[in-house]
Amino acid sequence: SPLLSIVHCVDTVVWMDQMSSILSIDRHAKTVTVQAGATLAQLNRALEAEGLAFSNLPSVSGQTIGGAIATATHGSGMRAGLLSSAVLALEIATPAKGVLRLTRASSSPLFWAACCSLGVLGVVTEVTLQVEDAYALSVEQEPRTLDDVLVNFESVARSAEYVRFWWYPHTDWVLLNTADRVPPALAPPPRRPSLLSRLLSRVRFNVLQSALLASWIVTPLVPIINRVWRWLYFSSRARAIVCPIQFFNFDCLFMQHVDEWAVPLSEAAAALTGLRSLIEFRGYRAHFPVEVRFVPRDSVWLSNAHERDVVYIGVISYRPFGIDIQDFRKYFADFDALM
Ligand SMILES: Cc1cc2nc3c(=O)[nH]c(=O)nc-3n(C[C@H](O)[C@H](O)[C@H](O)COP(=O)(O)OP(=O)(O)OC[C@H]3O[C@@H](n4cnc5c(N)ncnc54)[C@H](O)[C@@H]3O)c2cc1C
Repeated sequence: SPLLSIVHCVDTVVWMDQMSSILSIDRHAKTVTVQAGATLAQLNRALEAEGLAFSNLPSVSGQTIGGAIATATHGSGMRAGLLSSAVLALEIATPAKGVLRLTRASSSPLFWAACCSLGVLGVVTEVTLQVEDAYALSVEQEPRTLDDVLVNFESVARSAEYVRFWWYPHTDWVLLNTADRVPPALAPPPRRPSLLSRLLSRVRFNVLQSALLASWIVTPLVPIINRVWRWLYFSSRARAIVCPIQFFNFDCLFMQHVDEWAVPLSEAAAALTGLRSLIEFRGYRAHFPVEVRFVPRDSVWLSNAHERDVVYIGVISYRPFGIDIQDFRKYFADFDALM
């Protein structure tokens, strides 16, 4: 894995970076065939050069396509599903049956099993994915109250092609991010940020990291950090037209522990209400944001969204300067029990 591997292995690890070629791109059928070790970043560049793009992407692009599929990696938005649900065909080297070629068209149940297998069925070596014509996104960020979003949950979920929101614990506020496709010509060419803006963002990064470190000793600082940060950077409406990666991918800031669950769409508002009460009554100092993302139903056997629309709710505990500043295990265990 080019990222931090989730594999806890005491035996053999298969390193896929020598199998990372893009084998073919069919501009007409809008498909791409790749070896499983290719990263999403590599694929994004190759597709862009052909005027094509993925329909949805997760928040980082360092994963291999094999890893993203094996874990049912998701983005957010009720109209475009998991990367696994874009798979049209794959080749998998299995321990007992040799190399199998599975296609969606064959309607073999094995195909849907292999589209999210956590590596237990064998090594996926090659994948063909459905992509689409390149597009730009008209993106809007809007501060809303948590109560307002919870009351109108399903209509918020379906208010745009891509929807996600971040709740700032210890405040009543969420930042709602929505995006709809527009023609790619409308997106201004990406500009390298100026030296000043890069400098300012570095300063911001270090101020936040230092404030979080200080909250290790002075724990009541956490709610203050959440309020101040939201007010400074996320309290106003904004609109822009951007290329999709600029919306899908974002800076995850510092090292962090993450605990993310998928719940049925119909129960997500209750789950978030429960989380708010949990944080309040147990006195947890919850870092921002609680991230909420939407995934439409699919046919992938091991997908959390198998035949049901789901909402992913993720809580985090930052590790400023690589230091564990919180007893996150208790918070996460209570969150697990609630989910
Ligand atoms: C900073 C960060 C942000 C993330 N953001 C998101 C997000 O927004 N949405 C989301 O859903 N996920 C997200 N993830 C999770 C990430 O997409 C998955 O962990 C993904 O599996 C990582 O891919 P990898 O190549 O690193 O796989 P690895 O960590 O190497 O492997 C993960 C699993 O996939 C299996 N696997 C890998 N390659 C193959 C293969 N070729 N054949 C068969 N099995 C294979 C492994 O056996 C293992 O079980 C994020 C992770 C990080 C670290």
